[in-house]
Amino acid sequence: MSNRALIDDLVRVCGPGGVRHRLADLMVFEADGSVDGAVKTTLPQAVVLPTSTEQVAGVVKIARKHGVPVVARGAGTGLSGGAVAINSGVIISLTRMNHVLEVNLLERTALVEPGVVNLDLSTHVKHQHLFFAPDPSSQKASTIGGNIAENAGGPHCLKYGVTTNHILGVEVVLPSGDIAWFDSNQAGYGGLDLTAAIVGSEGMFGIVTKALVKLTPIPQSISVILAAFASMDDAAMAVTEIIASGTMPASLEIMDQLSIEAVEAAYHAGYPTDAAAVLLVEVDGHPLEVAEISADVEALCRRIGTVQYRQSYDPVEQAALWMGRKMSLAAMGRLAPNYYLQDAVVPRSKLVQTLDEVDRLGRASGLPVANVFHAGDGNLHPLILFDRREKGAVERVLELNHDLVVACVELGGTLSGEHGIGSEKRDHMPLIYTESDLRAMAGLKRSFDPDDFFNPGKVLPAGLMCGELKDLHMQRMAQKHGIVAF
Ligand SMILES: Cc1cc2nc3c(=O)[nH]c(=O)nc-3n(C[C@H](O)[C@H](O)[C@H](O)COP(=O)(O)OP(=O)(O)OC[C@H]3O[C@@H](n4cnc5c(N)ncnc54)[C@H](O)[C@@H]3O)c2cc1C
Repeated sequence: MSNRALIDDLVRVCGPGGVRHRLADLMVFEADGSVDGAVKTTLPQAVVLPTSTEQVAGVVKIARKHGVPVVARGAGTGLSGGAVAINSGVIISLTRMNHVLEVNLLERTALVEPGVVNLDLSTHVKHQHLFFAPDPSSQKASTIGGNIAENAGGPHCLKYGVTTNHILGVEVVLPSGDIAWFDSNQAGYGGLDLTAAIVGSEGMFGIVTKALVKLTPIPQSISVILAAFASMDDAAMAVTEIIASGTMPASLEIMDQLSIEAVEAAYHAGYPTDAAAVLLVEVDGHPLEVAEISADVEALCRRIGTVQYRQSYDPVEQAALWMGRKMSLAAMGRLAPNYYLQDAVVPRSKLVQTLDEVDRLGRASGLPVANVFHAGDGNLHPLILFDRREKGAVERVLELNHDLVVACVELGGTLSGEHGIGSEKRDHMPLIYTESDLRAMAGLKRSFDPDDFFNPGKVLPAGLMCGELKDLHMQRMAQKHGIVAF
């Protein structure tokens, strides 16, 4: 069937204003937040902007009839090449389904459409003294649907848990076009928890069209602490010791000297530019608890040798300190035209060792590496700075990225803390998963989507869905790292 017939069918479901098919329009959807060149994408045949679950289901059925794959998309801020077509097909953009449908104060829940922007939900319920706790740094743009698909994290997820801990139920359109509701909210419910299977499934099992989310009371008291250190090792040590002491701040974030330089040049957040690293700690809860934990944090940071220590209860000053952290990626433009953001996780006890290794590998490659990361979770974000106009720059970046991934895995870490696998890291999967692990994942995918119709080519290494792993390079890597050869 021709593309024209596909477009005509899609227009019948979504209306002419809900279908994009001109080249210039399609190009907008050719990329997400990941680095150009790291992921090979294709133009979709069409992009649809449905406004209801029924329209999503209708589009899925039409795509099935025409034999073309479907990719769900939120705001496109993903950093692992998840919301892009790699084999053409139809992109379903959920951004017009952006309503908070219901807030239940007694249950402290909200029923939302997937295109609701993360921060908009917290703003919507702020006057009820509630908020949606998962707070990716992209929260001004990224959608709840995208957060669910990636199981997004954020600075406050140290205390409150990542997205999966805040999703009670989901309505999904399945690859058959059927609409299902999965609920993990009912007390005593004894069935399989398919909500948990959908969260983090990167758009491969179903398209989320509604979500029942947990709302959290805004804490009575908040203190934000800035502790500057003369070395990154000291800052990382402070994090390890705070965690080991049994204290639980809401967040523990580190920025290194390069990041501080960029943030101060762009946003004047008030970070000391002569420090090697800044640790941002937020403590929240009952005022007495906040005072006690803050005092523990201060004693610990002073013992390790903080060179500058500030604590603030003033919301304006707190917002400035957080703005620096949350806008740190945007500030990287002060240092280089492009950056590649890594997302590996290592055990918190290995932070110092890993950061030394990141530094060593960065120096060896000749590429500057800045570090801004969720230190409390051991979730590193080395930012490789480069200029893609330089010949061979992207290849050098990808090589360094690969070395960083391997180093983190060798230190007991894993591939992603929050950005997902997408198409960017799927070939690294055999580094941490055995053949049995991967086959079990493929089996789950097949039970939702036997024809590999939703977001094909993502997460699972090439060949796995048709029962074979073809990539010899990956086999060699797997052998090198002691994983059974495929
Ligand atoms: C500056 C910046 C900072 C960031 N900081 C963080 C951070 O702190 N923590 C973090 O976790 N991430 C962070 N990210 C990454 C990104 O914002 C998150 O992964 C976010 O959850 C993606 O949401 P999105 O709406 O943009 O989804 P998209 O990028 O559009 O899609 C991401 C994936 O979700 C799938 N998807 C989207 N909507 C649906 C749906 N309704 N149903 C099923 N599947 C769907 C897509 O197919 C794709 O696989 C950051 C990104 C940027 C650019």
